[in-house]
Amino acid sequence: MLWFTEYYSGEGMELSGTGLTVKVKSAIKKRTPYQELLLLETEDWGKMLVLDGAIQTTERDEFIYHEMIVHPAAFTFTRRIERVLVIGGGDGGTVREVLKHEPKQIDMVEIDRDVVRFAEEHLPSISCGLKDERVNLIFGDGREFVENKEGVYDLIIVDCSDPIGPSKVLYEEDFYKDAAKALKPDGIFVTQSESPFAQRNVHIQVVRELSKVFKIVRPYLAFIPTYPSGMWSFTIASNRLDPLGAAPSALGKLYREFVEKNGELKYYNPEVHYGAFAIPNFVYREE
Ligand code: SAM
Repeated sequence: MLWFTEYYSGEGMELSGTGLTVKVKSAIKKRTPYQELLLLETEDWGKMLVLDGAIQTTERDEFIYHEMIVHPAAFTFTRRIERVLVIGGGDGGTVREVLKHEPKQIDMVEIDRDVVRFAEEHLPSISCGLKDERVNLIFGDGREFVENKEGVYDLIIVDCSDPIGPSKVLYEEDFYKDAAKALKPDGIFVTQSESPFAQRNVHIQVVRELSKVFKIVRPYLAFIPTYPSGMWSFTIASNRLDPLGAAPSALGKLYREFVEKNGELKYYNPEVHYGAFAIPNFVYREE
């Protein structure tokens, strides 16, 4: 019998004697120029993608992360979203959800070509959108890609890993400044912003740095069982659009029209939208 444990450690992790162990049926390993990829067939979670020892996505709970990184921002627009930039996101789940909003073009900038190849081969239910003709795949550094772009994107989504290695630069104020420039005036930026329980200081830092650059900054939560502590966060930032600004009746109408075309989502709905922005007291408590 084979077991895999993700030991919670590394940059920003505030737990040191904790991990998550899963029973594994088979495993494939690959070293890329950027990281170690592991594809596990697990007993409980279906296929699981692990990068440098950290669980990135599983067939069983990926819908939560991918719906929640996309839809709260996407449903904040009351007009059509035309151009979207996804940074990271090599498994393809974020692109799959963005496509449901019928954008004209999605640029996805992923640093590691092998993550995309791996996902296309082993995780077709997650990577299925990457072959869509509206998706422009670019292999490179998302940090460099946003430099010197002005007013191009409606929505920028940062679907990156922990602030270690190539992801580190995606947590810095200068990157947020460049991303803000690359957005249209009513554009929205959204990033995954780590676990407010297990990586609380990194989470607070992301919110603080974004607040230096954008007028409206709204962190929000989702429950993701295979991420450290299960309590996960994302943060929306914009200079014009507030995800809490829409009346429930207007959001409800937008959502019903969306469901007519795409069917119900599995996690996100208008009640979840408003509820996700309620943050427990301990997260921003002064120490
Ligand atoms: N859902 C995940 C999580 O929070 O654990 C993130 C998934 S996604 C697989 C993260 C991707 O970001 C990886 O494939 C990695 O190669 C990519 N990445 C890391 N740094 C990057 C950078 N600077 N530019 C573009 N992609 C980057």
